[in-house]
Amino acid sequence: MLDKVQPAPVAQGSRLWRPKRVLLSRSAREWAHGRAIAERAASQGIPVFELLTDRLTLDLPNDDPRRAYAQAKSTLAVVVAPPSKRRLQPIAPSADWRVDLAEGCPAHCSYCYLAGSLKGPPITRVYANLPEILDELPRHLGQGTVTSRQSERAGEGTTFEASCYTDPLGIEHLTGSLSETVKWFGAWKADAQLRFTTKFDAVEPLLRIDHGGRTRMRASLNPSLFARHEGGTSPVASRLDALRRMAEAGYPVGLTIAPIIAEPGWEEAYGMLIADAGRALNGVAGLDLTVELITHRFTPTSREVLSGWYPGSSLDMGPDGRTEKRTKFGSIKHVYDAPTMKMLRRFFETEIAAQLPKARILYFT
Ligand code: SF4
Repeated sequence: MLDKVQPAPVAQGSRLWRPKRVLLSRSAREWAHGRAIAERAASQGIPVFELLTDRLTLDLPNDDPRRAYAQAKSTLAVVVAPPSKRRLQPIAPSADWRVDLAEGCPAHCSYCYLAGSLKGPPITRVYANLPEILDELPRHLGQGTVTSRQSERAGEGTTFEASCYTDPLGIEHLTGSLSETVKWFGAWKADAQLRFTTKFDAVEPLLRIDHGGRTRMRASLNPSLFARHEGGTSPVASRLDALRRMAEAGYPVGLTIAPIIAEPGWEEAYGMLIADAGRALNGVAGLDLTVELITHRFTPTSREVLSGWYPGSSLDMGPDGRTEKRTKFGSIKHVYDAPTMKMLRRFFETEIAAQLPKARILYFT
């Protein structure tokens, strides 16, 4: 018998993901949070399949990659995160530690970094054992190396990033995991900060939480010129409006301008985006605003996966203006070459100083 839960409050007019099916694994059923997610989906009329085991049987068509992709993208699986997934990893430069509430995302961004990091069909998995995930955090307090080294981040304490493998706000109306985590940080009263970044706008469930100022939301943004690369996300103006509402609710906020795409027209497009952000946040009392700047990059694997998922994409992943960078794990990343990076960096630093004088730039990468 599933627990009865109230549907999460949602923003009027938000475009909310509605998966075609929810798979509830046997172990996930043993967790109240897992049962609550299934019940919430069922209350919205989404078919919920209770599995007899923890093995996810996806039944995706072998002979039709487009259909297989579409079916995977419209599947939400409620599973239990094993100990290996609950072990926190350092995640510079964004935060000290990565904490995963879920894995996968329902949107269709043609540059999505998850294409190179997650294996298998692109379903979204949400973790039912949220209490076990949160239990891992206290032992990492004071252990990070990223935020303690940066004066721009003074006062943040140890930082925990929840958006590395998912967009937690894009699935919040079904999972409730982000609200629970924000509440948990609010009650923790430790020198710590939860961070999440999002390309969605449905912040309604977060607005009245006792967050204690220990969660920073960042809106992940690109100008309308590149909106065609961000299928299934909320419009940029709504993301900025959501960010303003969060700032008015007392949250520290930020902009993640990512991925910065140096295609024709980029200067004017990003200049307008930064001006729009300035207008959206204008007049917010006590605004605590940061900016993170992440240029477009890809690996040979992510390029191959993305080319299969989005064969018609106009995103430039060719060799011009690019150079290879070796990661600390020895793999190759294709990033913009040094002159392009220099030009981008100068532009963003100048524009942000002019249009968002209260903002602190945390990093450019
Ligand atoms: Fe990937 Fe973020 Fe787009 Fe989701 S919103 S598809 S995580 S880039």
